[in-house]
Amino acid sequence: MKHTKSERLYQEGLEHLVGAVNSPVRAFSAVGGNPLFIERADGSEIVDVDGNVYIDYVLSYGPMILGHRHGRVRRNVRKALRNGYSFGASTKSEIRMAKILCDAIPGMDKVRLVNSGTEAVFSAIRLARAFTGRDKIIKFAGCYHGHADSLLIAAGSGLATLSLPGSKGVPEAAVANTLIANYNDLDSVKHHFAEHDDIAGIIIEPVAGNMGVVLPQDGFLQELKTLCEANGALLIVDEVMTGFRSKFGGAQEVLGVEADITCLGKIIGGGFPVGAYGARNEIMEMVAPLGEMYQAGTLSGNPIAMAAGISTLLELKSQNPYAGFEETAGRLESALLKSAKRHKVDLTVNRFGSMINPFFAKGAVTNFAEAQKSDTKKFAVFFWAMIENGIFLPPSQFESWFLCSALRDEDIVKTIEAIDKSMKAVAEA
Ligand SMILES: *Cc1c(COP(=O)(O)O)cnc(C)c1O
Repeated sequence: MKHTKSERLYQEGLEHLVGAVNSPVRAFSAVGGNPLFIERADGSEIVDVDGNVYIDYVLSYGPMILGHRHGRVRRNVRKALRNGYSFGASTKSEIRMAKILCDAIPGMDKVRLVNSGTEAVFSAIRLARAFTGRDKIIKFAGCYHGHADSLLIAAGSGLATLSLPGSKGVPEAAVANTLIANYNDLDSVKHHFAEHDDIAGIIIEPVAGNMGVVLPQDGFLQELKTLCEANGALLIVDEVMTGFRSKFGGAQEVLGVEADITCLGKIIGGGFPVGAYGARNEIMEMVAPLGEMYQAGTLSGNPIAMAAGISTLLELKSQNPYAGFEETAGRLESALLKSAKRHKVDLTVNRFGSMINPFFAKGAVTNFAEAQKSDTKKFAVFFWAMIENGIFLPPSQFESWFLCSALRDEDIVKTIEAIDKSMKAVAEA
């Protein structure tokens, strides 16, 4: 397989772009080699500038759950383009989007639309602080909540991949109110509540997807909710990745927990930049113009992004692909495990709905420390062998693979064959 044109563009990109990428997860730092440049994508497939075709399990890190260029989304976006691109004033499409989100997410009466997951989360944190009149936030090691200062600490995949504990340029004062707990470790949370009486809230990924896929143990989220209630704090559930992914609505519904504030992003924009945060009326009424918490955005609720997001969500609702995702993920899991056994490679697979993640590690992965025991060198060999066999995966051990409803049976068969060849390459490396 040739990557000549990607190589050339990478060299050219280095001059005026930082590392030739606009998000560090796109750099191939963790797997060696240079990033591939993409020309186009359609359905389940993505094509690089050298004309190599891959089955896409990156899916723009989640948003493209219907696959690329879905007809319904394309038609709706084209229709919206005819009316203009941005008005700085309210449109009907924002109301439609808000209704879809509030109907789907338990306990959400009102929502504010923003332009990214990062924005959704840092606004939700501001809101929790405004509502409770307190400053401290508990976050979990290995969970990523976007790149706002106060949350860039022990923040999962991007930083883990680059072996950074946090980020330079974040003043100590910015993280002084961020308390770190361990995923699936209730005592580490209780400890903070015992030490501090000014905790505004807990923020969590209901299923972690940014330290690799890590599931909450039975009752963990419910216990967090109970702790919040007992201590006058709010539970902020960051569903930027998990929202609409494993069921229409959030992981909250699947897992039986109800957030005080929910953050959304990725899928709800259908490939365009959209984020959202929402809560019950009493909380959302704190937000300007109704209340005293300020948060704004020139392009928020952008009509083109709304068109893509609304049609993606409506299509998801009518396709209801979730049982199919479960089945496909199950097939991939058993193929990965069988192949690992055949080639004597240590492997643990975690999955939740359309998120699946093989760790090159022995034993269960239930938190960040266990995820970090993975053999990232083995992952790098596996990654490049998968590329050679026409499968596009995220270039990091600590990122989820995503499934889309455009996957065909032949894609899955091809993926399973590639898995076995790649596992063999790992064993022989
Ligand atoms: C991707 C992600 C974010 C950040 O969203 P951006 O749109 O990249 O700013 C926040 N939280 C979670 C759980 C995410 O997966």
